[in-house]
Amino acid sequence: MSKKIVESYKQKLAQENGWLVKQGAQIRIALCYPNTHAIGMANLGLHTMYELFNKIPEVSCERVFLPDADEMREYEKSRASLLSLETQTPIRDFDIVAFSISFETDYLNMARMLQLSGIPVWSKDRNHFHPLVIMGGAASFLNPEPIADFTDVIAVGEGEVLAFQLIDSILQGGDKEEILLRLARIGRGFYVPSLYDVIYNDDGTAFDYLPKETGIPKRVGRALAAVNPKEGTLRRAIKRGETELAEFLKNQDIFCPSTAVWSPQAEMGDRLLVEISRGCSQGCRFCWAGYNYYPPRVVPAKDILAKAAEWRGKTNKIGLVSTAVCDHPEISTILSELRKMDYRITVSSLRLDQISDELLDALVESKDQQIAVAPETGSDRLRRVINKNLTNDEIVDICGSVFDRGMLTVKLYMMVGLPTETEEDLDEMFILVERIKDRMLEAGKKFGRAGKIITSLNGFVPKPNTPLQWDAICDEKELKQKIKYVCKGLSRIPNVEVRFMSARIAHEQALFSSGDRNIAKVIESAARLKGNLNDALRETGIDPKFHTSRNREYGEFLPWSIVDSGLSFEFLKTEHEKAHEALSSKPCPAVEKCTTCGVCPTTWLADAPPSLIQIQPAKVREAIAAAF
Ligand code: SF4
Repeated sequence: MSKKIVESYKQKLAQENGWLVKQGAQIRIALCYPNTHAIGMANLGLHTMYELFNKIPEVSCERVFLPDADEMREYEKSRASLLSLETQTPIRDFDIVAFSISFETDYLNMARMLQLSGIPVWSKDRNHFHPLVIMGGAASFLNPEPIADFTDVIAVGEGEVLAFQLIDSILQGGDKEEILLRLARIGRGFYVPSLYDVIYNDDGTAFDYLPKETGIPKRVGRALAAVNPKEGTLRRAIKRGETELAEFLKNQDIFCPSTAVWSPQAEMGDRLLVEISRGCSQGCRFCWAGYNYYPPRVVPAKDILAKAAEWRGKTNKIGLVSTAVCDHPEISTILSELRKMDYRITVSSLRLDQISDELLDALVESKDQQIAVAPETGSDRLRRVINKNLTNDEIVDICGSVFDRGMLTVKLYMMVGLPTETEEDLDEMFILVERIKDRMLEAGKKFGRAGKIITSLNGFVPKPNTPLQWDAICDEKELKQKIKYVCKGLSRIPNVEVRFMSARIAHEQALFSSGDRNIAKVIESAARLKGNLNDALRETGIDPKFHTSRNREYGEFLPWSIVDSGLSFEFLKTEHEKAHEALSSKPCPAVEKCTTCGVCPTTWLADAPPSLIQIQPAKVREAIAAAF
């Protein structure tokens, strides 16, 4: 064991607060985040799983990170096996190695961490002496296929539900095969890749997935934290004065995901992070997170404020994590109570159509929030293609209300390479940014200074389980030219700074998002070759364009279909067709008795088939049914 690595880990622990080691626990879990400590500790999913696992009396959970540059050099030099942070134990000595993966681009780091640990990367090469390798996190229900062959179990869905089911199954005993079969037979939430045969067509596309054992679902349903009230249901109950129902919904036994370990040296480590809601109702057609966290659900204000009160002695900074902060039905109460506690408030992202005066005032007061908004494009037509229902005039007005409060710098997220995009659409981006810049200069006169418009350009990457999943990514050369064209045009505008993601990176992302099981070979090879994807593609002979650059037929079996998100084929197909006709759709109402996209009928309302999701406690279903 390298003394330098142990020393580095002990220094990190010395600066943290809230970590724990449970001696003598029956099950030891190494919770791995496939990126460095500084990045991982800003991830609420990691904090959540650390807290949830350690709540279970039989479990002791420790954290493991991708070593930073200095540590990596030391690992390579000393050939030490990858260690946990808390007790510096080799992770191969744990019972479970659980990866929490939020971004598919971290798949490479997962393979790298397994290689460093001395645990065979391929599940078929592991035996009863090796830990059970589990993968969870947002990427697990995006498309887990590229890492399916590395993993014994993929937890499909949300940790609040799955952590306890997983441990229950393991505690029932049996050997590895028995545990895997038991988990797979639950029928939702646990996907065991080794229990499926993948049948391919002659052209290399998937034909079907065949379960190898009886009692295993053909598609694995996503498990949801269904005890949280749906956003629309709670909003309506409050608005209509249905006090009894509103109180009932707010008083469920709800877990409030928040910072578990205080780690000031990590990114955003000086603030309490609290997830206030999950999912977004808008249905932007490119946005994976929007559709895959349907229906939007909230953490009631009382639970958020209780957390805030508990942490106020440690910090006066709070980060509200949500894809749609202002959609929370109790946002006024949350903001005013946090301001009374003298918290400096920041938010993880702002949706343009939902910025309220109240929120802007709170953000001005906090002084450390950079306002980042996402017009995505400068073309109103293209915004209808992606179902972002705002016009350029509205965007300029909204930015104006930000500037009028003295916040003169905004970051604008833009996308290039969207389906049906024309050169005129790209030119409209220059006009919009110019208008926003003019509005900023006008507001700046009052404050005697000028700000900056930071534009961040990303190539569009089609994501699984979205209406644009059938579209190809824009050809790499063409995307590169488009990015260059837009960068050049924007950089001519004064007070505008341009940042961009390369076409190469967009294509790498697309490969990990939309690839099938064969991509594991590329990932394993690239991890061995220090991240060199080109060499890995050469070594494996895999053509990335087959996975990224084809418009797919509606009839094609998509590799990620093994995971059943609940979204119906008909819904996604209709939305895809509407996208190509530039027709917009209404947002998700997030209420009971809606059947629009297919998610709720399979989770709350109907007698769901066993392979789908049905996890809301009966008493909650009954109370809601009685109220409608
Ligand atoms: S079924 Fe309706 S309420 Fe439920 S997620 Fe879909 S659109 Fe939203």
